[in-house]
Amino acid sequence: MNTKRALMASTLWLLLCATAVEGKSNVKKELFGELPDGTPIDIYTLSDGPVEAQVTNYGGYLVSLKVPDRNGKSEDVVLGFDNLDGYVNNNTHKGTAYLGPIVGRYANRIANGTFELDGKKYSLAINNGPNALHGGLHGFHIVVWKGQVIPDGVELTYLSKDGEEGYPGNLSVVVRYTLNKGALKIDYSATTDKDTILNLTNHSYFNLKGAGKGDILNHNLRLHASQFTWADSTLVPTGELKSVEGTPLDFRKSTRIGERIDSDYEQLRVAGGYDQNWVLDSGGRKLADAAEVYEPTSGRVMRVLTDQPGVQFYSGNFFDGTIKGKGGIAYQRRDGLCLETQHFPDSPHHPNFPSTELKPGQRFHRVTVFRFSTR
Ligand code: BGC
Repeated sequence: MNTKRALMASTLWLLLCATAVEGKSNVKKELFGELPDGTPIDIYTLSDGPVEAQVTNYGGYLVSLKVPDRNGKSEDVVLGFDNLDGYVNNNTHKGTAYLGPIVGRYANRIANGTFELDGKKYSLAINNGPNALHGGLHGFHIVVWKGQVIPDGVELTYLSKDGEEGYPGNLSVVVRYTLNKGALKIDYSATTDKDTILNLTNHSYFNLKGAGKGDILNHNLRLHASQFTWADSTLVPTGELKSVEGTPLDFRKSTRIGERIDSDYEQLRVAGGYDQNWVLDSGGRKLADAAEVYEPTSGRVMRVLTDQPGVQFYSGNFFDGTIKGKGGIAYQRRDGLCLETQHFPDSPHHPNFPSTELKPGQRFHRVTVFRFSTR
């Protein structure tokens, strides 16, 4: 009897603790839906005054991000879907658009889907022209992460088994989304039991007017980058770091995105607009400004800080109206922009790029912050 009572008391205490943590951090966990195989999937709502973020443990998607405009009116500024089925269906159809997930094990492209490590050749799924893109067919955007409420946010963990999608090593990944004082922070860490390569990012499409409210051509962008990685016709870096000086890729001063997007410049022509990796001036050594986006009609400003060495600014060139997102709105060309903080694409083939190798005993750790304000 006594043991039973003690057990009940400790259960009650544990429940109280869990509620206290949730209360303090303004984080709510709810059922988002079920995968076709019946696996239940959760959605976590992080609230911080007028700013609210929703994250799911399916693919680690940032499902929504509500941010006030200069009149205090909040609007969802990330593209996505109204429900879990939307995300699942987009992932099963070829040409997924990655509307907000965690991307891994290797964000962006690896030439010909092969790389060598410690004298051994590894082969990856070829899912983008002749190359491997965004972690393969069953990358981190599709897997079910283990979710847990933490102060101010949610922690997602995933164990990617040795050989998964062709990558070596059992890789243990932890991604923490937290919301604090108008800033959404994404903290990535990982360890491995075998030499491997790793490049993690979040692939949210932003539209600071509001998701589904037209294109992003009138957004103003500033990038803290004096160079970019020159790419070939399949969007894989050749290894050359090129100055932005005198090119339409010069965003060192805030510039309207639409101003030069259709210029006759080879890098823009092959990509159909902006889809390049900028080399951040900070060198990726400490948390520093990477980008700033300003949308004049709403007054919303998004400042992006990171300790990653690069950022892929992608202007949503491949949307063609076939994806129907939130509210059934069809996403058209350039309706959203991505600022994917990352290591450079195809780094395993370029010894002059910052290394993406991770060895046993080392801990991968990178942070990106999206900070919101109005002007
Ligand atoms: C790539 C684009 C690609 C998009 C969606 C970006 O990171 O650079 O080329 O179309 O992701 O997959």
